[in-house]
Amino acid sequence: MTARWTNWSGSVVCQPRELARPASEAAVLELIGAASANDRTVRVTGTGHSFTPLCATDDVLLSLDDLQGLIAIDPVASTATLWAGTKIARATELLLAAGWSLENQGDVDVQSLAGAVSTGTHGTGPRLGSLSTQVAALRIATADGRLVDCSPAADASAFRAAQVSFGILGVITAVTLRVLPAYRLHERLWQVPIDDCLAELPTHIAAHRHFEFFWYPTTDLAHMKALDPTDEEPAAVAGREGERVDYSGRIFPTVRERRFNEIEYALPAAAGPECFADVRRLMRDRFADVTWPVEYRTLAADDIWLSPAYGRETVTISVHDAADRPFAKFFAAVEAIFRRYDGRPHWGKIHTLSAAELGELYPRWDDAMAVRRRIDPAGRFLNEHLRRVVGEA
Ligand SMILES: Cc1cc2nc3c(=O)[nH]c(=O)nc-3n(C[C@H](O)[C@H](O)[C@H](O)COP(=O)(O)OP(=O)(O)OC[C@H]3O[C@@H](n4cnc5c(N)ncnc54)[C@H](O)[C@@H]3O)c2cc1C
Repeated sequence: MTARWTNWSGSVVCQPRELARPASEAAVLELIGAASANDRTVRVTGTGHSFTPLCATDDVLLSLDDLQGLIAIDPVASTATLWAGTKIARATELLLAAGWSLENQGDVDVQSLAGAVSTGTHGTGPRLGSLSTQVAALRIATADGRLVDCSPAADASAFRAAQVSFGILGVITAVTLRVLPAYRLHERLWQVPIDDCLAELPTHIAAHRHFEFFWYPTTDLAHMKALDPTDEEPAAVAGREGERVDYSGRIFPTVRERRFNEIEYALPAAAGPECFADVRRLMRDRFADVTWPVEYRTLAADDIWLSPAYGRETVTISVHDAADRPFAKFFAAVEAIFRRYDGRPHWGKIHTLSAAELGELYPRWDDAMAVRRRIDPAGRFLNEHLRRVVGEA
């Protein structure tokens, strides 16, 4: 047995038989081959920032922390290929040095590219998709010892399934992303009473490339954030409270020092305000002891089979509580609200749904599961949590 492994929030703890750090694709294939020969299962982890037991195993756990860096940039196609273990922060600095930026990012940039892509990690912006939508091609080391390159032009069904696939198809070794010429963002942070924010919500969302708010239940204030592209220099806003200008990859991320657990569902955009009102009422009436904020973001519709934004304009609502507090009762009550609005859970955040329930929410569920059975018929890449998720418990 090796040392125990735990995720960022501490909600998942396991003791893998082997924790390996392959530094090349050949080493990844060798580890998969050895696992197959010994009938072991394999899970792969990025930074361990998922709250669900996606990476939990007592068998073989791979970390791609030694498989990081830029492989190539294609300036004609506007794509960049990076090793899958590259942390987002490193990716954005490598890209910036070459004159490129990511189209959109989430709240933090410590995740690995493959981990973030595999769960549909997203930021905010009604015309922008998750990181998975920025993927142009993936290379996957599969259970039968092959390296499979998939893209819209090569094994398109594997690609649509793999873009959000939480490690059930194999080990992604390289990620090709669509990138934009490097750009700067202007950030504005400000606070208003939540009812004022809600009254103007469609205007705020339409007015900015990125808009989100955090509602703090104890003060009833909305902490709002708007980001927009700018040609200004950072010095232009020096001294202006709540404003910053810098390259996009330096503006998107924040630092989360206090640990928490989180549930987040993706909802049809039109249902966002009503669903948020229900969550607010629930917290006021039954969970007034929860002081952590609720985050409200937007996402464009996409065509990725297991993406929570599949086929619909989306609002995401994220509910948090401190990592050292029991969350099951609170999150169950929140999840019941999300489910009333046909919400789809974030794959990396707490949820209780089984394959049958998920199948109802995803029109291409059966297609994605057929790809899984084709690529990993023996379930080499499943753990207990995932067997329940894919319906092979
Ligand atoms: C503080 C914090 C802030 C967050 N902010 C956001 C946010 O703004 N937006 C958002 O959408 N989510 C957010 N999340 C959730 C987080 O982005 C996702 O859970 C993401 O998957 C974590 O990436 P990771 O590298 O830590 O992957 P892990 O949690 O280690 O793994 C996630 C999944 O990816 C799979 N995986 C990892 N590497 C590979 C690989 N090489 N090949 C195949 N599969 C692989 C794993 O098996 C697992 O199924 C946040 C989480 C935390 C803790």
